[in-house]
Amino acid sequence: MKKMTAMLFSLAVGLNTVSMAAKADAPKEQETDVLLIGGGIMSATLGTYLQELQPDWSMTMVERLDGVAQESSNGWNNAGTGHSALMELNYTPQKKDGSISIEKAVEINEAFQVSRQFWSHQVNSGVMHDPHSFINTVPHMSFVWGEQNVNFLRARYAALQQSTLFRGMKYSEDHAQIKEWAPLVMEGRDPNQKVAATWTPVGTDVNYGEITRQLIGSLKKDQNFKLETSSEVTDFKRNGDNSWHVTIKDVKSGDKRSVDAKYVFIGAGGGAIKLLQKTGIPEADNYGGFPVGGSFLMTENPEIANRHLEKVYGQASVGAPPMSVPHIDSRTLDGKKVVLFGPFATFSTKYLKNGSLFDLLSATTTSNIMPMTHVGIDNFDLVKYLIGQVMLNDDDRFAALKEYYPNARKEDWKLIQAGQRVQIIKKDAEKGGLLKLGTEIVTDQQKTLAALLGASPGASTAAPITLDVMKKLFPEQFASPEWQQKIRAIVPSFGQKLNGNTALTQQVWDNTAATLLLTKPPVINMGDQTVAPTQAKPRTESGKQDMAL
Ligand SMILES: Cc1cc2nc3c(=O)[nH]c(=O)nc-3n(C[C@H](O)[C@H](O)[C@H](O)COP(=O)(O)OP(=O)(O)OC[C@H]3O[C@@H](n4cnc5c(N)ncnc54)[C@H](O)[C@@H]3O)c2cc1C
Repeated sequence: MKKMTAMLFSLAVGLNTVSMAAKADAPKEQETDVLLIGGGIMSATLGTYLQELQPDWSMTMVERLDGVAQESSNGWNNAGTGHSALMELNYTPQKKDGSISIEKAVEINEAFQVSRQFWSHQVNSGVMHDPHSFINTVPHMSFVWGEQNVNFLRARYAALQQSTLFRGMKYSEDHAQIKEWAPLVMEGRDPNQKVAATWTPVGTDVNYGEITRQLIGSLKKDQNFKLETSSEVTDFKRNGDNSWHVTIKDVKSGDKRSVDAKYVFIGAGGGAIKLLQKTGIPEADNYGGFPVGGSFLMTENPEIANRHLEKVYGQASVGAPPMSVPHIDSRTLDGKKVVLFGPFATFSTKYLKNGSLFDLLSATTTSNIMPMTHVGIDNFDLVKYLIGQVMLNDDDRFAALKEYYPNARKEDWKLIQAGQRVQIIKKDAEKGGLLKLGTEIVTDQQKTLAALLGASPGASTAAPITLDVMKKLFPEQFASPEWQQKIRAIVPSFGQKLNGNTALTQQVWDNTAATLLLTKPPVINMGDQTVAPTQAKPRTESGKQDMAL
């Protein structure tokens, strides 16, 4: 009996030991301080800031596709404009009295100067390399025709000259001068057509996909950072301590796993709205999303690409929403020069280029259906415009191109599909729903989750928008002297306005141009003021200024 008891005891001890060993070997719940959802420029930028500000935090980035920068941030999926409002006419709306408002233009330009400083810092600290692979000097031009548009551009130019940020810009109504700036735009044009243009050498073309790849490539060298591709976030649960239990599906095998994260950033581009809804936070109920895609005519013909070396933005037709602003752009993508013309708006119910046709339906809920309906009714011009765009055929698109490049030949051009943008529709007590064309940061009350919705002015503002995300998500750390000091090292002008400060504007222009290998900027001399602000007969605008594709 004694023997039996001893055997049972040793068996029990043995089993217990085995089970303890098994427990120790079982895959532990994955834990991370920060979960970055999406491998686009926004998550890449947040990860890069945090690596410097809080190097002891662990970070996990999950991306549903098999590589990063394959959605909107990819160079071929956007227009690559370093949006600085140098040429985008929708950022300088005309007031009722005919004068030009430059507030939005100044805001957009200031934001881009933050991005330029952020990228310069990354080059200087070895995080990024070979600036020509991701940013290049490309003069920015506005070009218009017709009496009313010419008057508008003249008044816009005069108004912008009051700001340090727009100095170096030139204005002309002379065909020969404009031909020197943009030969293909002028060749074959009616010599009697009344035209005007502005030109500035401080414009840029940016490959946001390359920026994303370089930032993530550098993050991956850090043992505190993990990138998991083919990994789709499917669900969220809040833990008792306000951290998040996030379910992730392996897209290839269908297997599910989970990660516990103290902080979550939803940088999922068009996919952000659906994920925000899955978190169940009350703030999510305020939003719906309407997808609008873009396509471009593209040529690789070197005879064209080597002669069109600028970005030329035109005027949208009266009443049309600003996303219809046509532009013909010199781009450098994958090491070669190409020219893109567009965008032509496309419609699909997908929220991501590689998304599902059920996206729109599945993100439409009892909370957002009414706001979405109101927006559809209130923005009939947008609906009409989209229907018109979807109906365009090849001849219509080619006719639009010829307005900007009169001698264009059809055989040189092909249509390419760019990315999807999801326009935010927000609940509004008064109007039911509002179409918000900018970017919106949504955070929970517990400050453990942030989502970035909307996409305009887009990747150009990745660095300043991410500062705003951090301020909202990590308010204590953000206000700490340690973070403040480090942020100033990354963005030297942080907390200061460039507009009106000649020395600071010049310093930021010169330093970033030198590091990013951009053309030396002009010397700002506010004393050489030759133009006074003027007024022009107002156009009937749609009033939506904050979106340009
Ligand atoms: C036609 C067009 C023209 C544009 N032109 C310009 C321009 O000239 N200048 C400019 O500054 N901006 C422009 N933009 C906007 C700019 O491209 C975007 O603002 C920017 O790329 C958004 O970056 P992101 O990181 O938020 O999103 P994305 O680059 O789309 O990245 C989001 C990532 O999240 C992933 N993801 C989604 N859901 C999940 C999930 N559930 N789990 C895991 N991963 C997920 C996606 O696969 C994707 O890789 C343009 C956009 C379009 C569509």
